[in-house]
Amino acid sequence: MADIKNELTKKLGFGCMRLPVTGGDTNAIDDTQFCAMIDSYMEQGFQYFDTAYPYHNEKSEEAVRRCLVERYDRDKFLLATKMPVWMVKETADYERLFEVQRKRCGVEYFDFYLLHAMNKDRARETEEKGGFAFVQRMKEEGKIRHIGFSFHDTADVLDDILNRHPETEFVQLQINYYDWESENIQSRKCYETAVKHGVPVIVMEPVKGGTLANMVGEPANILKGLNPEASFASFAIRYAASLENVMLVLSGMSDEAQLADNTSYMKDFVPLSEQEQQAIAKVVEELEKLPTIACTTCRYCVEGCPKKIVIPDVFHAYNSVVQFGLNDITRGNYNRAVANNGRAEDCIKCGKCEGQCPQHLPIRDLLEKTAETFAG
Ligand code: SF4
Ligand code: SF4
Repeated sequence: MADIKNELTKKLGFGCMRLPVTGGDTNAIDDTQFCAMIDSYMEQGFQYFDTAYPYHNEKSEEAVRRCLVERYDRDKFLLATKMPVWMVKETADYERLFEVQRKRCGVEYFDFYLLHAMNKDRARETEEKGGFAFVQRMKEEGKIRHIGFSFHDTADVLDDILNRHPETEFVQLQINYYDWESENIQSRKCYETAVKHGVPVIVMEPVKGGTLANMVGEPANILKGLNPEASFASFAIRYAASLENVMLVLSGMSDEAQLADNTSYMKDFVPLSEQEQQAIAKVVEELEKLPTIACTTCRYCVEGCPKKIVIPDVFHAYNSVVQFGLNDITRGNYNRAVANNGRAEDCIKCGKCEGQCPQHLPIRDLLEKTAETFAG
């Protein structure tokens, strides 16, 4: 198998799941700003864009067509998207969804194509319905250049899927320094499993859904002590990129400032020094003392909640209290999260959300705690 790492000039990928929008409306992608961000990213020699069928209420792939595909020659960028396997009811759906994606993106082929959000059950189901065979056929037909999958489960499950599917050319994993040793996410174990199989890794959520970009107290002091000019996010992204078998780190970039920050240290990437690695280990120690909820805002739990509780927004509000205390601003975060939606105390404990959560969070208990925090 040719080394696909050689296709990538740089280790930073443009995640298209949190694009700039107008008026706070996730459907209203701001093309002008997105185009400007793409131009800046491309001018600096970066080339990889990662979208997916459901991003931005299914508007991301079309925005990529308008702002990237229709403005740049096809050989100037690498485009990745993902099969929404949960929408497949029968084998014919793979072809139908794939064609919708080619049309939305306006391309003949995808450079990197992933089966989206594999876990133990989804992998079995995808096998049974012929999803793995379908992507291989698309590769043979030249409509996909490289096949892989994104993954949310334990290292054992990853090992099993890679054993059954040696055709896999890359995997996309959740890796960040906070979750490196976590038993829920198993960043280290999953990474080492990929290494064992000789499969290169694309990292998603390197900043843990933005969590590692906003630190206070001792963790903040430690990182500022290393370099007062560097953003907190820069350490998280460089940490993931410093892993040898990581070929790319995705960052979901939402505005030009974030893009400028990410590209500044990833343009001529320097791996973390020994001193920086030690400081990050100390940061993890300190962070573990803070009892925040480890929600990555993937939003997989939101749709199925019968009480319409926007769980990640509610948890974000709770976490802001853990970090900054209960004040007008943090209370405002909660009020916004529950405006026109369910409140934490509305939870009927049906448990539907917990089955969707890649972080395996005890959502029901945590909502009870959140309700107590904001009561009165
Ligand atoms: S357990 Fe609560 S939060 Fe979860 S889906 Fe049911 S009502 Fe919604
Ligand atoms: S599924 Fe879990 S991690 Fe994802 S938004 Fe919901 S609570 Fe957070």
